[in-house]
Amino acid sequence: MLENNSTSVNTADLQTIDAAHHMHPFTNTGALNKKGARVITHAEGVYLWDSEGNKILDGMAGLWCVNMGYGRSELIEAANSQMKQLAYYNTFFQTTHAPVAELAKEIASVTPGDLNHIFFANSGSEAIDTIIRMVRQYWSIKGKPYRNIIIARENAYHGSTIGGTSLGGMSGMHKQGGPLVPNIERIRQPYWYGEAGDMTEEEFGIACAKALEDKILEVGPDNVAAFVGEPIQGAGGVIVPPANYWTEIQKVCDKYDILLAADEVICGFGRTGSWFGCETLGFKPDIMSMAKGLSSGYLPIAAVAVGDRIANAFIEHDDDFNHGFTYSGHPVAAAVAIANIQLMKKENIVEYVANDIGPYFQRKLRETLADQPLAGHIEGTGLVAGIALVKDRETKEFFGDDINIGLICRDHCFNNGLIMRAVGSRMVLSPPLVISHAEVDELCEKVRLCFDLTLKSVS
Ligand SMILES: *Cc1c(COP(=O)(O)O)cnc(C)c1O
Repeated sequence: MLENNSTSVNTADLQTIDAAHHMHPFTNTGALNKKGARVITHAEGVYLWDSEGNKILDGMAGLWCVNMGYGRSELIEAANSQMKQLAYYNTFFQTTHAPVAELAKEIASVTPGDLNHIFFANSGSEAIDTIIRMVRQYWSIKGKPYRNIIIARENAYHGSTIGGTSLGGMSGMHKQGGPLVPNIERIRQPYWYGEAGDMTEEEFGIACAKALEDKILEVGPDNVAAFVGEPIQGAGGVIVPPANYWTEIQKVCDKYDILLAADEVICGFGRTGSWFGCETLGFKPDIMSMAKGLSSGYLPIAAVAVGDRIANAFIEHDDDFNHGFTYSGHPVAAAVAIANIQLMKKENIVEYVANDIGPYFQRKLRETLADQPLAGHIEGTGLVAGIALVKDRETKEFFGDDINIGLICRDHCFNNGLIMRAVGSRMVLSPPLVISHAEVDELCEKVRLCFDLTLKSVS
């Protein structure tokens, strides 16, 4: 139907312009410029097309965001009509507008507990920066400005502003562009398969919570503002913590009166089979960030949902909170996000992920890779999964630094019409939530093919 669009693009010309003027994020620019970027021309449902006419199954929903799939007329129309009505107005000058107020209500209708107060931003990173400033200011309002240490985790991803980079636990990012924001501490990640040794999952969950308690005691409980974590780590390789992890973490936070913040930028909006990952993982945050799935990636918008405890402190404190963005609650992005949430409700997409396509995808992926020698361990829930690539399944031996197994696999995916992302030695999948059973079958077949080709490459 849209295939023709590909032919109107001159690949080489675009690659030349791109190399001359466009600096790509998270990219070795010199190497890419020599090779030329792949040009994506159009998309529909769960498929992308490139300028060479290749049809590609998008196993990553863009970058974990196009949850309702590409080409949804409801979202396109919402943007179009809002642009005509009111393309922009700010929310700084004691003003509001229908899309931002209605979106706040719409978000509050799906957040758990009392997370009913919404602050808007434009990206996950900005939402995280907002959380950093808000939890510190909360304690300041409470007369304890010294409570400003935030504890996060190794290999966490919280975005790439200086705040997000500092809070995240990505060593490759910490090496560049520092110094980082002070008073951020980190504890181990709950990566059971890779880092727990002989511990059972339950023992490891308790050990990880103990690591939080040890850190709190080390820096002094009265200096800690908050603990922050992704319910399931996404960019770190889709790491699902042990079942008891979050309840144990919550107990420690409660014991020392430390705020608990969930970074729901990936897990939010149905990815794990609940509206938010904290519901699937069983904990109750005081504050949480959301972005990606909020608008299914159609326009940039992010939000922080704030519970009564924090929100009331700000409301009762008779002073400005000096924080916000020109485009906080942008009316066009907000209109698209409203349409997105309403579409999710209308199509019962969260129930579809929880009871139908999520379990089907998880089962099918495990069946397809059951006898594949590289597939060491598969973890995931709903429509997100991570697969550890190993040299030896019996001994759990990983590949050495001489073989970048993830990139080899990713290149086979690239050449075989599949987008699957490599994170070190882990392959990750996060397809659009609207994916059908037949499309899951196709996805799993392609994954198997690419794993088999990867095995050949290293044998
Ligand atoms: C993507 C992501 C972010 C950053 O979002 P941006 O929109 O890229 O700034 C933050 N936290 C998590 C968990 C993410 O996955």
